[in-house]
Order: sequence, then structure tokens, then C-alpha cells
Amino acid sequence: MARLVVVSNRVASPKERAAKAGGLAVALREALSKRGGLWFGWSGETEVGAPPEPKIFRSGRITYGLLTLDPEDQRAHYAGYANGTLWPLCHYRLGLLAFRRADWEGYRRVNEHFARALLPLLKPDDIIWVHDYHFIPLAAELRKLGFEGRVGYFHHIPWPATAVFLSLPSHAALVRDLSHYDLVGLQTENDVRALLTYISSESRGWLAPGGVVNLRERTFRVAAYPIGIDAEAFVQDAKDAVGSDEMKRLRASLAGKALAVGVDRLDYSKGLPNKFAAFGELLKNWPEHRSKVTMMQIAPLSRGEVAEYRALRRELEELAGSINGEYAEFDWVPLRYLNRPFQRATLAAIYRTARIGVVTPLRDGMNLVAKEYVAAQNPRDPGVLMLSRFAGAVDEMTGALIVNPYDVEGMGEALHTALVMPLEERRERWRTNMKNVETNTIHHWCERFIAELSSSQEALPDPLTA
Ligand code: ADP
Repeated sequence: MARLVVVSNRVASPKERAAKAGGLAVALREALSKRGGLWFGWSGETEVGAPPEPKIFRSGRITYGLLTLDPEDQRAHYAGYANGTLWPLCHYRLGLLAFRRADWEGYRRVNEHFARALLPLLKPDDIIWVHDYHFIPLAAELRKLGFEGRVGYFHHIPWPATAVFLSLPSHAALVRDLSHYDLVGLQTENDVRALLTYISSESRGWLAPGGVVNLRERTFRVAAYPIGIDAEAFVQDAKDAVGSDEMKRLRASLAGKALAVGVDRLDYSKGLPNKFAAFGELLKNWPEHRSKVTMMQIAPLSRGEVAEYRALRRELEELAGSINGEYAEFDWVPLRYLNRPFQRATLAAIYRTARIGVVTPLRDGMNLVAKEYVAAQNPRDPGVLMLSRFAGAVDEMTGALIVNPYDVEGMGEALHTALVMPLEERRERWRTNMKNVETNTIHHWCERFIAELSSSQEALPDPLTA
């Protein structure tokens, strides 16, 4: 079995426990342990003029390689091009897109450093799996250095429609970079269509059936690999933790009121202001729910180094204050707003306690919280998943109450519908969703991508003759 090499910006350290590391990190660690592997990424540290030598250490069957970056390169790469340009672009927020040539150059430079540091560690038959928008040019940089082995890329966030993508000054170069991979994985069929449309209409690439592309003399494949969760672990966590002291306190504090829960990083793609406003609409238009429902929004702070995230934080504090100011009673706070992380088991138990899981991003690659909420439910009395039509998860979570997050009044109405939904309908919707959560797990996703990347250099049809 060929060795697996994973490249991602953040590397979950071997000491990080499963409860904290998140489903993806755990699944990658499993795949790496099974085959023996190398996990390569940023060390989380900066040092002026940082040397290109990575820190290497081993833990079990996994070798870790961590590269320290020069602070200006790191800023241009992470806060600059990756999160100031690509993140808003891929989430359709052109108003927030900032493009600076220096950031684009820094982004490329960091990818070049990564390729140079990684190359000496590679064997020709390794399978290299690159994760996310921080590293789109990595394969191109490795090819420049002469590496010809199998390299795959998975894009965890949406691929934008061509009209949006064209706003990016470096659009052509970025797609040329993609052509150096053997396999490009996206979250949904919609994302695949968007990228293939761009390739055929803007970069004069040739398409063959099955997502095979020929672009500038390179042949590669583009396909959808919707990411999943560790369903079994979530079910178990939810069952175990629901009787904990912490959850007893939560239930006591609710005193029989229904709970609507939201769990999102504090990010403008998550549509939090609209979600808060929708809750305000519910309380305004359906006064019978006042004092009967509590919304809890868990939103750990994220990317505080990017200005838009700081502005969003202030906006949400103001909105939460105004909803509570308007509707609170001396014994009822309508909106509980928490800015901190929780252990996976606690989250699972909160999901299980909640009558509604409110997942309403303006745009999201997949949204794992939607799947986690479903997995955590009690099958006898499941809650309702309220899901944005712009989350990748909507393709699979067809039993959700699907909403348009731009329609705040419509979302207020959907909250009401969820609160009064009969048990039989809740069960039926939940079963539909759960079937997908159980079938398409994170393990299945990992294995499928690795299997298809493994065979990716074995005779792709030539789009010019197919
Ligand atoms: P994104 O990757 O954009 O943050 P996802 O919904 O796909 O969005 O994934 C978020 C992950 O982070 C989920 O697994 C969720 O459980 C986890 N998470 C979100 N908020 C918290 C929190 N407060 N504490 C711990 N984990 C959290």
C-alpha cells in the first residue's frame, strides 16, 4: 500500500484528544496510521526570515512535518489572500473581497516554501492529499521541482459560479494551478458544475464524461466528495452526555421551554445576523412562543486578525442585546449568546436537548453542524433541522426544513413551523436525514477520496479523443 501524505494548514498534534480534534482531524489521523504516513503543515509559529527547514517528528506510524513561516509571508498567505480574498470570493461576498498583489505574491511564496520543504521527504509512489484553499498552487510548485507522483486536492469550501469567480484578478492562474493535480475534489455536484463551466467557457479546457478535464496539456478529474461526520461517535456522545450534570443544569435552566440551537464559528458566511433577526420575527409575529422558547447561539470567535470578523462580532452583540432588551422577562432570556468552544460530547448533548437545530449560512461548503445535529437526536422524539438552501449539506439532508437565509420573515415562520411540527412528521424527516448521515460518514469520504486518488494516474481517458 502506498504511503499517504496529507498537507493542511493546521495539523492536529498527536496529543490532541479526539474530543477536541474534530472529525476531519481524527479521520485523517486514522488514515495516516493505517498506511503509515506523513502529515505536513504550518507549525503555527512565525520567525523573521523563517528558514525553509521543517521540524520533523514521529508519533506512532505518523511522521509530522511542521514548517515555520516568516511573519509577513504568513500574514499575506493566511489573513491576506486565503481569508481576505479566497474565503469571501468562494462564499459569494464580493463586497468583502480584498485583493492585493502583495498578498497574492505572499500566498504563492508560501506555497513555494511548502513545496521545497516537502519535496525531500517524498517518495515517488506516495499519494499526496492537499487540503483546502490555502494550498491551491502546491501541486504546481511540486511539479516545477520535478515531482510526478499522484497529488490530489480537496476544496472544503464552495466553488463559486463563474460570474463571481471572474471577479478574482488571479482567476486564470488559480485554475491553471488546479490542473497540476490528478484529482480535484469538491463538496457538491453544484460546485463541480461551477468549476467545469469555468474551465470550458473561460480557460478553453476540454471536458470528457466523468469530470475528466484536459487543460493546457494536463489531464485531471474533478468530482464531488461530500464530506460527512463520524456518525457513530456522535450518536454515542449524545446518548452518554445527555445525563451529565452539565446537561441537567441546562434542562433545569430551560424549565420546560423549547430550545432552538445554533452552533457556528463567528463567521460572516454563517448568516448569524439574519438568524438572530429571524428569531426576533418569530417572537414578534407569533407571541404565543414568548416565554416558551429559548434560542442558544454558540459562536466561538474566529479569525480575529481579519477586520470583518471584528465588525461582525460587534454587530451580533448589538443585535442580541436589542432582542433580549425588547422581549426578555424577569424569568426568561430569549437569546443566549455564547462565544466559547465546547467539547464534542457537550455539543452533542446540547443538540439532543434542542427541539430545533438552526443552520442558516448564507453560503457553506457543506456544514457539518447540520449532520451532527441529526446524528445526536433521540430517534423516538427527534428535533427539526432547519437548514439553509445554500449549505452543501442540503443535497443530502432532504428531510430538513429548508429555508432561504435572505428571507428573514420566512425563517421566522419556519421556526414557528418547527416548533409546532407533529411528532410523526419530525420522525419521518429525521429518518430521511439520518440515513444519509449514517451512510456517508467521514471514514467513507476519506477512503473514497484516497482510493480514487490512488488510481488517478491509471489511464484517464483523453478528452480530446474520448
Ligand atoms: P466550518 O468548517 O466553516 O467551521 P462546519 O459546520 O462544517 O463549519 O464545521 C464546524 C465544526 O466545528 C463542527 O464539527 C462543529 O461541531 C465544530 N464547532 C463549532 N462550534 C464549536 C464550539 N463552540 N465548540 C466546539 N466545536 C465547535
